[in-house]
Amino acid sequence: MTRQLSASRWYADPGNQCRVGCGACCIAISISTTIPGMSGPKPAGVRCVQLTSDNRCRLYDKPERPDVCRVFEPSAEICGRTNDEAMRNLIELEALTSS
Ligand code: SF4
Ligand code: SF4
Repeated sequence: MTRQLSASRWYADPGNQCRVGCGACCIAISISTTIPGMSGPKPAGVRCVQLTSDNRCRLYDKPERPDVCRVFEPSAEICGRTNDEAMRNLIELEALTSS
C-alpha cells in the first residue's frame, strides 16, 4: 500500500469502514504524494499536518485531499479492531514495503 497507499479517514467498524478518530494510516505509513501544508512526501511515523487532534482529516471532503488518500480502502486485515492494532499493522506493513 505504502507508496500508493496512504491515509484516510473513514470511520467505523471492522469491514470496509473506518473508525472515527483512528488516523493510524495518516501517521504510520509514508505517503509519496505531497500533502497540502507539507513541503514534500510524508515520512513514515510522521503525523500528517491535516490530521486534527482528534484524528480526523481536515481535507476529508475537499478536493485538495490527495487521491492516494481517497482511494485507500480500510480493511479488517489492516485496520484490525482497535486503533493500536491498526498502528501496529501499519508499522509492520511500512517496514515490509520500504526495504
Ligand atoms: S490528507 Fe487526510 S487522509 Fe491524507 S494523510 Fe492527511 S489526514 Fe490522512
Ligand atoms: S487505519 Fe483503518 S481504521 Fe484507522 S484511519 Fe486508517 S483506514 Fe481508518
